[in-house]
Amino acid sequence: MFDLIVKGGTLTDGRVTDIGIEKGVIKAIDALEGAEAGEVIDATGDLVSPPFVDPHFHMDATLSYGTPRINASGTLLEGIGLWGELKEVMTHDEVVARALDYCDWAASTGLLAIRSHVDTCDDRLLGVSALLEVREKVRGYIDLQLVAFPQDGFYRDPTARANTIRALDMGVDVVGGIPHFERTMADGAASVTELCGIAAERGLQVDMHCDETDDPNSRHIETLASETQRLGLQGRVAGSHLTSMHSMDNYYVSKLLPLIAEARINVIPNPLINIVLQGRHDTFPKRRGLTRVREMLAMGINVGWGQDCVLDPWYSLGTADMLDVAFMGLHVAQMTSPADMRTCFDMVTTHNARTMGLEGYGLEVGAQASLVVLDAGDPVEALRLRAGRLCVIAKGRVISRRARGDAQLSLPGRPARVTRRHTL
Ligand SMILES: [Zn+2]
Repeated sequence: MFDLIVKGGTLTDGRVTDIGIEKGVIKAIDALEGAEAGEVIDATGDLVSPPFVDPHFHMDATLSYGTPRINASGTLLEGIGLWGELKEVMTHDEVVARALDYCDWAASTGLLAIRSHVDTCDDRLLGVSALLEVREKVRGYIDLQLVAFPQDGFYRDPTARANTIRALDMGVDVVGGIPHFERTMADGAASVTELCGIAAERGLQVDMHCDETDDPNSRHIETLASETQRLGLQGRVAGSHLTSMHSMDNYYVSKLLPLIAEARINVIPNPLINIVLQGRHDTFPKRRGLTRVREMLAMGINVGWGQDCVLDPWYSLGTADMLDVAFMGLHVAQMTSPADMRTCFDMVTTHNARTMGLEGYGLEVGAQASLVVLDAGDPVEALRLRAGRLCVIAKGRVISRRARGDAQLSLPGRPARVTRRHTL
Protein backbone atom coordinates (compact mmCIF):
# COMPACT_ATOMS: atom_id res chain seq x y z
CA MET A 1 0.00 0.00 0.00
CA PHE A 2 1.53 3.27 -1.15
CA ASP A 3 0.56 6.68 0.17
CA LEU A 4 0.58 8.04 -3.37
CA ILE A 5 0.99 6.71 -6.90
CA VAL A 6 1.78 9.02 -9.83
CA LYS A 7 0.48 7.01 -12.74
CA GLY A 8 1.65 6.80 -16.35
CA GLY A 9 3.80 9.95 -16.47
CA THR A 10 6.70 10.53 -18.87
CA LEU A 11 10.05 11.05 -17.15
CA THR A 12 12.57 13.55 -18.50
CA ASP A 13 14.51 10.70 -20.15
CA GLY A 14 11.37 9.59 -22.04
CA ARG A 15 10.49 6.52 -19.92
CA VAL A 16 6.76 6.10 -19.28
CA THR A 17 6.19 4.68 -15.81
CA ASP A 18 4.40 4.79 -12.48
CA ILE A 19 5.97 6.15 -9.30
CA GLY A 20 5.03 4.76 -5.90
CA ILE A 21 5.54 6.94 -2.82
CA GLU A 22 5.52 5.93 0.83
CA LYS A 23 6.46 7.93 3.93
CA GLY A 24 8.02 10.75 1.92
CA VAL A 25 10.31 8.46 -0.10
CA ILE A 26 10.11 7.09 -3.66
CA LYS A 27 9.62 3.36 -3.13
CA ALA A 28 9.03 2.18 -6.71
CA ILE A 29 9.53 3.39 -10.28
CA ASP A 30 7.85 0.67 -12.29
CA ALA A 31 4.50 -0.48 -13.67
CA LEU A 32 2.35 -0.61 -10.52
CA GLU A 33 -0.73 -2.31 -12.01
CA GLY A 34 -3.18 -3.20 -9.29
CA ALA A 35 -1.11 -1.66 -6.48
CA GLU A 36 -3.14 0.14 -3.83
CA ALA A 37 -2.55 3.72 -2.79
CA GLY A 38 -4.12 6.41 -0.65
CA GLU A 39 -4.30 8.57 -3.76
CA VAL A 40 -3.57 8.01 -7.45
CA ILE A 41 -2.57 10.98 -9.59
CA ASP A 42 -3.11 10.35 -13.29
CA ALA A 43 -0.12 11.80 -15.18
CA THR A 44 -0.79 10.02 -18.49
CA GLY A 45 0.78 12.03 -21.29
CA ASP A 46 2.32 14.51 -18.86
CA LEU A 47 5.94 15.16 -17.99
CA VAL A 48 7.07 14.14 -14.49
CA SER A 49 10.22 15.92 -13.40
CA PRO A 50 12.28 16.28 -10.25
CA PRO A 51 11.58 19.65 -8.61
CA PHE A 52 13.02 22.89 -9.87
CA VAL A 53 16.03 24.32 -8.04
CA ASP A 54 17.13 27.96 -7.89
CA PRO A 55 20.75 28.31 -6.74
CA HIS A 56 20.83 32.12 -6.74
CA PHE A 57 18.17 34.32 -5.20
CA HIS A 58 17.72 37.32 -2.87
CA MET A 59 14.80 36.48 -0.61
CA ASP A 60 15.39 39.42 1.75
CA ALA A 61 14.65 41.82 -1.13
CA THR A 62 11.95 39.95 -3.05
CA LEU A 63 8.43 41.36 -3.59
CA SER A 64 9.60 44.79 -2.40
CA TYR A 65 9.35 46.46 -5.83
CA GLY A 66 8.37 50.10 -5.43
CA THR A 67 9.42 50.37 -1.76
CA PRO A 68 10.43 53.08 -1.08
CA ARG A 69 10.58 53.90 -4.83
CA ILE A 70 11.31 52.17 -8.12
CA ASN A 71 14.72 51.87 -9.80
CA ALA A 72 14.41 54.62 -12.42
CA SER A 73 17.62 53.91 -14.36
CA GLY A 74 17.28 50.13 -14.10
CA THR A 75 20.99 49.79 -13.37
CA LEU A 76 22.81 47.51 -10.91
CA LEU A 77 24.32 50.49 -9.08
CA GLU A 78 21.00 52.33 -8.62
CA GLY A 79 19.59 49.00 -7.44
CA ILE A 80 22.30 48.71 -4.77
CA GLY A 81 21.61 52.32 -3.67
CA LEU A 82 17.87 51.66 -3.56
CA TRP A 83 18.40 48.48 -1.54
CA GLY A 84 20.23 50.66 1.00
CA GLU A 85 17.11 52.87 1.27
CA LEU A 86 14.84 49.83 1.61
CA LYS A 87 17.02 48.40 4.40
CA GLU A 88 16.38 51.61 6.40
CA VAL A 89 12.61 51.07 6.40
CA MET A 90 12.16 47.29 6.42
CA THR A 91 11.19 45.32 9.52
CA HIS A 92 11.67 41.72 10.59
CA ASP A 93 7.98 40.83 10.24
CA GLU A 94 7.70 42.50 6.86
CA VAL A 95 10.71 40.55 5.48
CA VAL A 96 9.28 37.28 6.84
CA ALA A 97 5.88 38.05 5.26
CA ARG A 98 7.36 38.87 1.83
CA ALA A 99 9.59 35.78 1.91
CA LEU A 100 6.70 33.49 2.87
CA ASP A 101 4.57 34.96 0.07
CA TYR A 102 7.42 34.25 -2.33
CA CYS A 103 7.74 30.67 -1.05
CA ASP A 104 4.02 30.18 -1.82
CA TRP A 105 4.72 31.23 -5.41
CA ALA A 106 7.71 28.87 -5.52
CA ALA A 107 5.65 25.98 -4.13
CA SER A 108 3.05 26.52 -6.85
CA THR A 109 5.70 26.26 -9.60
CA GLY A 110 7.46 23.22 -8.13
CA LEU A 111 10.51 25.28 -7.11
CA LEU A 112 11.39 23.31 -3.99
CA ALA A 113 15.03 24.16 -3.32
CA ILE A 114 16.33 27.73 -3.18
CA ARG A 115 19.72 29.18 -2.30
CA SER A 116 19.19 32.74 -1.17
CA HIS A 117 21.86 35.29 -0.47
CA VAL A 118 21.11 37.40 2.58
CA ASP A 119 22.69 40.81 3.12
CA THR A 120 25.11 40.90 6.05
CA CYS A 121 25.93 44.63 5.74
CA ASP A 122 23.50 45.60 8.46
CA ASP A 123 24.44 45.85 12.11
CA ARG A 124 20.98 44.58 13.10
CA LEU A 125 21.29 41.56 10.76
CA LEU A 126 17.55 41.92 10.28
CA GLY A 127 17.42 40.02 6.99
CA VAL A 128 19.52 37.21 8.46
CA SER A 129 17.28 36.67 11.47
CA ALA A 130 14.13 36.93 9.30
CA LEU A 131 15.33 34.40 6.72
CA LEU A 132 16.61 31.99 9.39
CA GLU A 133 13.03 32.03 10.71
CA VAL A 134 11.65 31.49 7.19
CA ARG A 135 14.09 28.61 6.58
CA GLU A 136 12.49 26.78 9.53
CA LYS A 137 8.92 27.71 8.57
CA VAL A 138 9.21 26.30 5.01
CA ARG A 139 11.38 23.30 5.87
CA GLY A 140 8.53 20.84 5.23
CA TYR A 141 8.27 21.81 1.56
CA ILE A 142 11.21 24.00 0.48
CA ASP A 143 14.90 23.45 1.16
CA LEU A 144 16.15 26.98 1.76
CA GLN A 145 19.92 27.45 1.90
CA LEU A 146 21.24 30.85 3.02
CA VAL A 147 24.43 32.59 1.90
CA ALA A 148 26.10 35.26 4.06
CA PHE A 149 26.40 38.04 1.48
CA PRO A 150 28.30 41.26 2.25
CA GLN A 151 26.42 43.29 -0.37
CA ASP A 152 28.34 46.55 0.22
CA GLY A 153 31.75 44.82 0.17
CA PHE A 154 33.45 42.58 2.74
CA TYR A 155 36.21 45.20 3.18
CA ARG A 156 34.52 48.23 1.60
CA ASP A 157 31.81 48.34 4.27
CA PRO A 158 33.41 48.99 7.67
CA THR A 159 31.38 46.43 9.65
CA ALA A 160 30.69 43.86 6.93
CA ARG A 161 33.50 41.53 7.97
CA ALA A 162 32.34 41.27 11.59
CA ASN A 163 28.68 41.01 10.60
CA THR A 164 29.31 38.32 7.99
CA ILE A 165 31.09 36.22 10.62
CA ARG A 166 28.22 36.86 13.08
CA ALA A 167 25.72 35.70 10.43
CA LEU A 168 27.66 32.44 9.98
CA ASP A 169 27.68 31.99 13.77
CA MET A 170 23.88 32.43 13.71
CA GLY A 171 23.55 29.46 11.34
CA VAL A 172 23.76 30.83 7.79
CA ASP A 173 24.83 27.92 5.58
CA VAL A 174 27.16 29.28 2.89
CA VAL A 175 29.95 31.90 2.67
CA GLY A 176 29.33 34.66 0.09
CA GLY A 177 31.30 37.61 -1.25
CA ILE A 178 31.38 40.34 -3.89
CA PRO A 179 35.04 40.83 -4.88
CA HIS A 180 34.36 43.05 -7.92
CA PHE A 181 32.63 45.59 -5.63
CA GLU A 182 35.64 46.08 -3.35
CA ARG A 183 37.58 49.32 -3.93
CA THR A 184 40.59 47.75 -5.68
CA MET A 185 41.40 44.56 -7.56
CA ALA A 186 43.81 43.71 -4.73
CA ASP A 187 41.07 44.09 -2.09
CA GLY A 188 38.78 41.94 -4.24
CA ALA A 189 41.36 39.17 -4.47
CA ALA A 190 42.14 39.43 -0.74
CA SER A 191 38.42 39.13 0.08
CA VAL A 192 38.21 35.93 -1.96
CA THR A 193 41.21 34.50 -0.12
CA GLU A 194 39.91 35.39 3.35
CA LEU A 195 36.32 34.25 2.68
CA CYS A 196 37.44 30.92 1.20
CA GLY A 197 39.65 30.47 4.28
CA ILE A 198 36.65 31.07 6.56
CA ALA A 199 34.62 28.47 4.60
CA ALA A 200 37.43 25.90 4.75
CA GLU A 201 37.83 26.41 8.49
CA ARG A 202 34.09 26.00 9.13
CA GLY A 203 33.50 23.22 6.58
CA LEU A 204 31.07 25.37 4.60
CA GLN A 205 30.35 25.89 0.91
CA VAL A 206 31.22 29.13 -0.90
CA ASP A 207 29.07 31.07 -3.36
CA MET A 208 30.32 34.45 -4.50
CA HIS A 209 28.84 37.14 -6.68
CA CYS A 210 31.90 37.16 -8.89
CA ASP A 211 32.86 39.50 -11.73
CA GLU A 212 29.31 40.81 -12.22
CA THR A 213 30.56 43.53 -14.52
CA ASP A 214 31.34 44.15 -18.20
CA ASP A 215 34.98 44.88 -17.30
CA PRO A 216 37.10 42.13 -18.92
CA ASN A 217 39.86 42.84 -16.39
CA SER A 218 37.63 41.71 -13.53
CA ARG A 219 39.27 38.32 -13.04
CA HIS A 220 38.33 37.31 -9.51
CA ILE A 221 37.11 33.95 -10.77
CA GLU A 222 40.79 33.10 -11.30
CA THR A 223 41.51 33.73 -7.59
CA LEU A 224 38.32 31.91 -6.57
CA ALA A 225 39.35 28.82 -8.56
CA SER A 226 42.94 28.83 -7.34
CA GLU A 227 41.92 29.33 -3.68
CA THR A 228 39.44 26.47 -4.11
CA GLN A 229 42.31 24.23 -5.20
CA ARG A 230 44.69 25.43 -2.50
CA LEU A 231 42.16 24.82 0.28
CA GLY A 232 40.79 21.53 -1.08
CA LEU A 233 37.29 22.96 -1.57
CA GLN A 234 36.77 21.35 -4.99
CA GLY A 235 33.08 20.88 -5.87
CA ARG A 236 31.92 23.03 -2.93
CA VAL A 237 32.43 26.47 -4.46
CA ALA A 238 30.13 28.38 -6.81
CA GLY A 239 30.85 31.42 -8.98
CA SER A 240 27.67 33.42 -9.53
CA HIS A 241 27.29 35.63 -12.62
CA LEU A 242 30.90 35.62 -14.02
CA THR A 243 29.61 38.09 -16.60
CA SER A 244 32.97 39.76 -17.26
CA MET A 245 33.98 36.54 -19.00
CA HIS A 246 31.80 37.55 -21.98
CA SER A 247 34.28 40.30 -22.77
CA MET A 248 37.56 38.65 -21.76
CA ASP A 249 40.35 38.01 -24.22
CA ASN A 250 39.97 34.53 -25.79
CA TYR A 251 43.56 33.52 -25.04
CA TYR A 252 43.10 34.31 -21.37
CA VAL A 253 39.82 32.38 -21.28
CA SER A 254 41.53 29.35 -22.88
CA LYS A 255 43.77 29.28 -19.78
CA LEU A 256 40.97 30.12 -17.32
CA LEU A 257 38.42 27.45 -18.29
CA PRO A 258 40.64 24.46 -17.44
CA LEU A 259 41.39 26.05 -14.05
CA ILE A 260 37.64 26.40 -13.35
CA ALA A 261 37.11 22.79 -14.45
CA GLU A 262 39.96 21.45 -12.27
CA ALA A 263 38.63 23.32 -9.24
CA ARG A 264 35.16 21.88 -10.00
CA ILE A 265 33.64 25.34 -9.57
CA ASN A 266 29.86 25.34 -10.02
CA VAL A 267 28.78 28.22 -12.24
CA ILE A 268 25.53 30.19 -11.90
CA PRO A 269 24.63 32.60 -14.70
CA ASN A 270 21.42 34.56 -14.06
CA PRO A 271 20.09 35.29 -17.55
CA LEU A 272 17.04 37.44 -16.72
CA ILE A 273 19.16 39.80 -14.68
CA ASN A 274 22.39 39.62 -16.69
CA ILE A 275 20.64 40.58 -19.94
CA VAL A 276 18.93 43.49 -18.16
CA LEU A 277 21.79 44.86 -16.03
CA GLN A 278 24.92 44.27 -18.12
CA GLY A 279 25.94 46.25 -21.20
CA ARG A 280 24.54 49.44 -19.69
CA HIS A 281 27.63 51.45 -20.60
CA ASP A 282 27.52 50.22 -24.21
CA THR A 283 26.00 52.08 -27.13
CA PHE A 284 26.18 49.74 -30.14
CA PRO A 285 27.21 47.00 -30.58
CA LYS A 286 25.64 46.23 -27.20
CA ARG A 287 26.93 43.18 -25.31
CA ARG A 288 24.53 40.50 -24.05
CA GLY A 289 26.15 40.29 -20.62
CA LEU A 290 26.01 36.51 -20.25
CA THR A 291 29.02 34.41 -19.30
CA ARG A 292 30.39 31.67 -21.61
CA VAL A 293 27.78 29.02 -20.85
CA ARG A 294 28.16 26.62 -23.77
CA GLU A 295 31.95 26.74 -23.60
CA MET A 296 31.94 25.86 -19.90
CA LEU A 297 29.40 23.05 -20.37
CA ALA A 298 31.64 21.66 -23.13
CA MET A 299 34.52 21.58 -20.61
CA GLY A 300 32.39 19.46 -18.24
CA ILE A 301 31.87 22.37 -15.82
CA ASN A 302 28.59 22.21 -13.87
CA VAL A 303 26.56 25.23 -15.01
CA GLY A 304 22.99 25.96 -13.90
CA TRP A 305 20.65 28.90 -14.44
CA GLY A 306 19.77 31.06 -11.43
CA GLN A 307 16.88 33.48 -11.03
CA ASP A 308 18.49 36.17 -8.83
CA CYS A 309 15.59 38.63 -8.50
CA VAL A 310 11.80 38.86 -8.46
CA LEU A 311 10.14 42.28 -8.04
CA ASP A 312 12.94 43.95 -6.13
CA PRO A 313 15.31 46.95 -6.41
CA TRP A 314 17.11 45.32 -9.37
CA TYR A 315 14.32 43.73 -11.39
CA SER A 316 10.76 44.87 -12.03
CA LEU A 317 9.40 41.51 -13.17
CA GLY A 318 9.76 37.84 -12.19
CA THR A 319 7.50 34.88 -11.50
CA ALA A 320 9.32 32.32 -9.29
CA ASP A 321 9.21 30.09 -12.35
CA MET A 322 12.54 28.46 -13.27
CA LEU A 323 11.13 27.67 -16.74
CA ASP A 324 11.05 31.44 -17.40
CA VAL A 325 14.68 31.60 -16.30
CA ALA A 326 15.76 28.70 -18.53
CA PHE A 327 13.70 30.11 -21.43
CA MET A 328 15.59 33.41 -21.27
CA GLY A 329 18.88 31.53 -20.78
CA LEU A 330 18.48 29.40 -23.86
CA HIS A 331 17.76 32.49 -25.95
CA VAL A 332 20.65 34.59 -24.67
CA ALA A 333 23.11 31.66 -24.86
CA GLN A 334 21.66 30.59 -28.24
CA MET A 335 21.10 27.06 -26.95
CA THR A 336 18.22 26.23 -29.28
CA SER A 337 19.07 22.73 -30.60
CA PRO A 338 16.91 19.97 -29.07
CA ALA A 339 19.93 18.64 -27.11
CA ASP A 340 20.86 22.12 -25.87
CA MET A 341 17.28 22.84 -24.80
CA ARG A 342 17.17 19.59 -22.83
CA THR A 343 20.41 20.68 -21.18
CA CYS A 344 18.72 23.98 -20.26
CA PHE A 345 15.96 22.01 -18.52
CA ASP A 346 18.58 19.95 -16.66
CA MET A 347 20.31 23.21 -15.68
CA VAL A 348 17.28 24.30 -13.60
CA THR A 349 16.87 20.83 -12.06
CA THR A 350 19.79 18.38 -11.72
CA HIS A 351 22.67 20.80 -12.37
CA ASN A 352 21.42 23.23 -9.74
CA ALA A 353 20.78 20.40 -7.27
CA ARG A 354 24.45 19.47 -7.67
CA THR A 355 25.54 23.07 -7.06
CA MET A 356 23.53 23.20 -3.83
CA GLY A 357 24.76 19.75 -2.76
CA LEU A 358 21.17 18.53 -2.26
CA GLU A 359 20.89 15.04 -0.82
CA GLY A 360 18.16 12.61 -1.89
CA TYR A 361 17.32 14.69 -4.95
CA GLY A 362 16.03 13.10 -8.17
CA LEU A 363 13.56 10.57 -9.46
CA GLU A 364 15.01 7.30 -8.27
CA VAL A 365 14.08 4.63 -5.76
CA GLY A 366 15.16 5.72 -2.30
CA ALA A 367 15.18 9.43 -3.15
CA GLN A 368 13.03 12.03 -1.44
CA ALA A 369 9.50 12.00 -2.90
CA SER A 370 9.52 15.50 -4.36
CA LEU A 371 8.38 15.88 -7.96
CA VAL A 372 6.39 17.96 -10.39
CA VAL A 373 3.75 16.95 -12.97
CA LEU A 374 3.82 19.36 -15.90
CA ASP A 375 1.24 20.11 -18.59
CA ALA A 376 3.75 19.18 -21.33
CA GLY A 377 4.96 16.04 -23.09
CA ASP A 378 8.70 16.50 -22.66
CA PRO A 379 11.29 18.96 -21.28
CA VAL A 380 11.53 20.97 -24.52
CA GLU A 381 7.77 21.42 -24.63
CA ALA A 382 7.80 22.39 -20.96
CA LEU A 383 10.26 25.16 -21.82
CA ARG A 384 8.39 26.34 -24.92
CA LEU A 385 5.07 26.58 -23.08
CA ARG A 386 6.51 27.42 -19.63
CA ALA A 387 4.04 24.65 -18.92
CA GLY A 388 1.63 24.73 -16.00
CA ARG A 389 2.47 22.65 -12.92
CA LEU A 390 -0.55 20.35 -12.66
CA CYS A 391 0.64 18.84 -9.41
CA VAL A 392 3.56 19.51 -7.06
CA ILE A 393 4.60 16.88 -4.52
CA ALA A 394 7.03 17.90 -1.76
CA LYS A 395 8.53 15.29 0.56
CA GLY A 396 5.62 12.92 -0.12
CA ARG A 397 2.77 15.44 0.18
CA VAL A 398 0.75 17.09 -2.59
CA ILE A 399 1.26 20.80 -1.92
CA SER A 400 -0.12 22.40 -5.09
CA ARG A 401 -2.51 21.56 -7.92
CA ARG A 402 -3.79 23.51 -10.88
CA ALA A 403 -6.12 22.90 -13.79
CA ARG A 404 -4.84 22.51 -17.33
CA GLY A 405 -4.40 25.73 -19.25
CA ASP A 406 -6.53 24.72 -22.24
CA ALA A 407 -8.41 27.50 -23.99
CA GLN A 408 -12.00 27.05 -25.20
CA LEU A 409 -12.18 28.25 -28.79
CA SER A 410 -15.30 29.62 -30.46
CA LEU A 411 -14.34 29.47 -34.14
CA PRO A 412 -16.62 27.85 -36.71
CA GLY A 413 -15.07 24.65 -38.13
CA ARG A 414 -12.14 24.74 -35.69
CA PRO A 415 -11.58 22.54 -32.60
CA ALA A 416 -13.35 23.61 -29.42
CA ARG A 417 -10.23 23.25 -27.30
CA VAL A 418 -6.64 24.36 -27.93
CA THR A 419 -3.67 23.29 -25.81
CA ARG A 420 -0.67 24.47 -27.93
CA ARG A 421 0.93 21.10 -27.23
CA HIS A 422 3.10 19.88 -30.11
CA THR A 423 5.43 17.20 -28.81
CA LEU A 424 7.79 15.90 -31.50
ZN1 LIG B 1 22.61 38.09 -6.81
